[in-house]
Amino acid sequence: MATLLIDKDACTGCESCVPACPFGALTMKEGIAVVDEKCTFCGACVDVCPVTAITLEKEEKAVTIDITAYKDVWIFIEHEFGKVGSVSFELLGEGRKLADAIGCKLCGMLFGDKENVEKFAKEAIAYGAEKVYVMESPLLKEYRTDPYAKAAIDLIRKYKPEIVLFGATTQGRDFAGTVATTIEAGLTADCTGLDIDPETKYLKQTRPAFGGNIMATILDYPNYRPQMSTVRPKVFAMPQRDDSRKGEIIQEALQMTEDQVRTKIIEFIKGAETVNLADAEIIVSGGRGVGGPEGFKPVRELAEVLGAAVGSSRAAVDSGWIPYEHQVGQTGRTVRPKIYIACGISGSIQHQAGMKTSDIIVAINKDAEAPIFKIATYGIVGDLFTVVPMLKDEFKKRLGR
Ligand SMILES: Cc1cc2nc3c(=O)[nH]c(=O)nc-3n(C[C@H](O)[C@H](O)[C@H](O)COP(=O)(O)OP(=O)(O)OC[C@H]3O[C@@H](n4cnc5c(N)ncnc54)[C@H](O)[C@@H]3O)c2cc1C
Repeated sequence: MATLLIDKDACTGCESCVPACPFGALTMKEGIAVVDEKCTFCGACVDVCPVTAITLEKEEKAVTIDITAYKDVWIFIEHEFGKVGSVSFELLGEGRKLADAIGCKLCGMLFGDKENVEKFAKEAIAYGAEKVYVMESPLLKEYRTDPYAKAAIDLIRKYKPEIVLFGATTQGRDFAGTVATTIEAGLTADCTGLDIDPETKYLKQTRPAFGGNIMATILDYPNYRPQMSTVRPKVFAMPQRDDSRKGEIIQEALQMTEDQVRTKIIEFIKGAETVNLADAEIIVSGGRGVGGPEGFKPVRELAEVLGAAVGSSRAAVDSGWIPYEHQVGQTGRTVRPKIYIACGISGSIQHQAGMKTSDIIVAINKDAEAPIFKIATYGIVGDLFTVVPMLKDEFKKRLGR
């Protein structure tokens, strides 16, 4: 908690503080600065006041936890419809690097009914978890906020992990927020990069900020633990599965009954078929270079022959040529296919942020200087309306489709 104090006697009415406030929280009233509820206590006005009439009083919350008691990196192993979300395995891969950098263990946190837990704990170990903390109960068969949050909060309070990572999926976003607010831990959502500070061993969490215009690296407040992040699927590579790995499974019981759960699952209704860019092995994407909605025709035809998904740049989406679900990039989907074919896409930083980790990038662009060629495995300088149909015909012939 903080309070912004304005000393009316000291204030000279110079107004320097008014434009200095990024939130427009300061105005002048009868020649004296006054602050309103928009104040975020950032202190910008304090720094510019020439007569030190503004002060910020911060009430430091007493440190109630011993952060040295917090150990290990935990990954939430999420599952749906009998399958572990691939993001959980990707996080185990990245978690391994973090745990090695800190010098601690990599663990899974898994909830489900008996059948789920037995199957998925072994998978988590095969993907690198040294320990898996599990709770098994019919209440935990499918994800529901109340029992999952109760399970996680109890485990975190008892075993004190230093870092907990969740997929930035529908499940992970709901779950991580509930857990973080209850245990008063920080949570950085939608991270695109994680690292360990070599000196402090704190988690460095990178994510786009201010509408994606900058990449911010965030450290949690040092007196709170665990450090928690959600990470989008496909940001990190899938680690090698090794079924010969051995790990420890730690069972705990859920202290909750069905009547304490505020939601019931009545039925799952499959939504409309959506574009599955995240799981596509091949993506053929079109950008502003396709020139209009009809320009996506050759892109779609090539995608069909290759059994690929159709992606796009934001320029094509913003022009209304293709729906947002197809957008690849910082404010669209992050993808990591085996082959990404960019047709008429210049390769802006924001587009690259969503596809540069593709195994093979093929760029087709009539401008030999386009930035996409800097990251392309194969570059074809030419008109996409000539090149793409030629590729389609050739692949059709060779693949016999
Ligand atoms: C905060 C923020 C977030 C953003 N998020 C995203 C995002 O998620 N995804 C994204 O894509 N962008 C994003 N952008 C926009 C990004 O900056 C670019 O404007 C956008 O990626 C450009 O799309 P483009 O490459 O299709 O268009 P352009 O940059 O206009 O490039 C078109 C390319 O097509 C080529 N071309 C034209 N005609 C032909 C032809 N007949 N044959 C072959 N080549 C041809 C041109 O040479 C050119 O290189 C974001 C921007 C901001 C500020």
